[in-house]
Amino acid sequence: MKLSSTLLLFFVLFMSTNISSQSPKEFAEAWDKKHLTKVLPSNAKYKDLQNYLEQLKKLGIKVDEVGRSFSGREIYQIEYGKGPLKIFMWSQMHGDEPTATSALIDLFAFLKTNPEIPWVKALESAITIRAVPMLNPDGAEVFQRRNAQSVDINRDARALQTPEGRLLKTLSDEWSPDIGFNLHNQGVLTTVADTPRQATISFLAVSGDPEGKANAGQIRNKRICAVMIKALEQFIKGNIARYDDTYNPRAFGDRISEWGTPVILVETGGLHGKDEMFLVKLNFIAYLAAFQSLVDQSEEKTDATIYDRLPFNGSGELYTTIFRNASIVNFATTTTSSLADVAINRERRRANEYAPHFIQEIGDLNSNNGLNEYDASNFLMVNRVGSIHTGSSGDFMFYKKDRKIDFTAPNFEKAFPPDAIFVGGKWLTGENLLKKLR
Ligand SMILES: [Zn+2]
Repeated sequence: MKLSSTLLLFFVLFMSTNISSQSPKEFAEAWDKKHLTKVLPSNAKYKDLQNYLEQLKKLGIKVDEVGRSFSGREIYQIEYGKGPLKIFMWSQMHGDEPTATSALIDLFAFLKTNPEIPWVKALESAITIRAVPMLNPDGAEVFQRRNAQSVDINRDARALQTPEGRLLKTLSDEWSPDIGFNLHNQGVLTTVADTPRQATISFLAVSGDPEGKANAGQIRNKRICAVMIKALEQFIKGNIARYDDTYNPRAFGDRISEWGTPVILVETGGLHGKDEMFLVKLNFIAYLAAFQSLVDQSEEKTDATIYDRLPFNGSGELYTTIFRNASIVNFATTTTSSLADVAINRERRRANEYAPHFIQEIGDLNSNNGLNEYDASNFLMVNRVGSIHTGSSGDFMFYKKDRKIDFTAPNFEKAFPPDAIFVGGKWLTGENLLKKLR
């Protein structure tokens, strides 16, 4: 007994020391060089997913239909590897949270097409990965959070009234995975604590205990999160945070952890100036770093406090766009102007669709930040479709202050063409008239 366990230890040490590891930069380069997904995640529809899955099948990857959505769309599961450690991943249970679906596709394509890389080769006999990309295809098709019953699947873990929620529970119950990855998007205005820095990726090693007591699975997952944090810090240092860890009995991450599969929540936010494909790449790097650390056992030596020390998600009172020092004219009620900063936020929409913006705050916003900021001090600012108040549309017309405008004139946009028009987060005219501050 003693001899065999000693031999086993030698074998493990031999194996692990012989696996040369890949750096996060090498993962990034591999993705830059080749990745299967081509459509921006938010533009991808159910047909695009099916197209991706066909390509995975052609590579020889196992893809099965495992269930149907409320509207009858097939839900798929991808499988790779033959090892004893079971990892279960699911994405897009919220239909308008698409980043990880693309990252999962690129992940499986990478593993299958790089069998000569030593750790990838070792993974195949050490780990089995199953993933359900786009658990909520009905929501994804119309880019909405909820499923076709208008139920939030992630609040259905107790009631189990959605076919998608029941499927997720069945797949998890029948397989009893060792680790779960629950993959979401958070708002792009989510910040790292109360700083103005966007939380580009947030992690949560779910406790699964109603009182939040730590357990071995959660502590192992904290180490895995630490591995992913270390990998991502090479690309987005200062933009990584921890997700709020309040237990919710209706949420799948909490309940699947409670039912025996400790879950890691990955929430992808935004990073101003980078497109959605960059976020896909970050997810890809994080997953590969996590798996490699399980294969070469470096996870066991990773300091879990790297995770514990991360700041929590916060609201750094960040807005999509702030117009500073605008002279606001509410032409419906008055023609006199008042000076204020105006902050607007973008609604979540596909990249190729009009994104409505709404006024979030008006007043002194000197202590706040916008992803974009303009100096409107030389302009009268008028709402294009109504008045300027919180909650109203964020589409505006700007007039140079020295112009004489009769704001009571009928159809005055025609009678007095604006110097600049801002609609759906874009300049229709006068792009460079207002000085860009950020
Ligand atoms: Zn979500």
